[in-house]
Amino acid sequence: MAERLQKVMAQAGVASRRASEKLITDGRVTVNGKTITELGTKVEPHDKIEVNGEPVEGNEKKVYFLLNKPREVVTTASDDKDRATVLDILKDVPQRVYPVGRLDYDTTGVLLLTNDGDLANQLMHPKYNIDKVYVAKVKGIPSNDDLKALRLGVTVHTVEKNRHKTYHAAPAKAEIVAVDRAKNTAIVRLTIHEGRYHQVKEMMKAVNHPVLKLTRERYGLLDVTDLAPGEYRELTYDEVQALK
Ligand code: URA
Repeated sequence: MAERLQKVMAQAGVASRRASEKLITDGRVTVNGKTITELGTKVEPHDKIEVNGEPVEGNEKKVYFLLNKPREVVTTASDDKDRATVLDILKDVPQRVYPVGRLDYDTTGVLLLTNDGDLANQLMHPKYNIDKVYVAKVKGIPSNDDLKALRLGVTVHTVEKNRHKTYHAAPAKAEIVAVDRAKNTAIVRLTIHEGRYHQVKEMMKAVNHPVLKLTRERYGLLDVTDLAPGEYRELTYDEVQALK
C-alpha cells in the first residue's frame, strides 16, 4: 500500500511528521537512490528510503538468515574485548540484521538472524514454546535419576552480574545419545523452550554433569545439517512461514 513518505518516516521513528517534511524539502531523503524533495511523494513498502545516506528501518525488506555459528564468535553486535561477532560473518548482507537470542562464545550451531523485529520478539517469548534442541558433551555419565530431574525441571542456582539467582527450569526432554566410559563423558540431547543465560550449562551443572562442549542442533524446524560452521543461507519462504 502506497503511503506518504513523511508518514512512513515518522512511523519508522526517524522524526516527527513535521520534521520529516523538513528533511525531505532539505533534500536529505532518497527513495531508491533518488533524492526526493516533493512532499506529496508516496512510497510502497518495498521502496528503499534513506535519510542522510542511512537506511530507514521498518521500510527495509524483511530478511531471514540461518547461520551455523562456529566456536569463538560472540553473538552480540559488538564486543568490548574486540572478538569476532556473528555480524562479521554476515557482513555482506546489506540489511541490518541481528541475532534472535544468543549462543555462547564457545557454543556452535543453529542461529537465526533477521531484521524482522516482530518475529524476533515473538520467537524469543517463552510462551511461544519453540523447541530448542541442544547436544552437549558432559563430564561423567548422567544417571536415570539425573535424567528424571531434568525432565521434571531442575532448580538452578546461578550468579548473573554479581547477583545470586535461583530459578526452576521448565521440564526438558532429556536423553543420553552416547557414553564414553573410558573418558567418563556422555553426549546428552536436551530439548528446552526457555532461553535463559547459559541455561543448558546451568541445567547440567545442577545435576553435577558440567558441559564440556555444546551445540544447538535445532531451532523449531530449522537445523544446519546443510551448512558447515561459519556458513549461512537465507531461509526459504516455507521456513519463514513455519516460524510464524
Ligand atoms: N545454553 C547455554 O548454556 N549456552 C548456549 O549457548 C545456549 C544455551
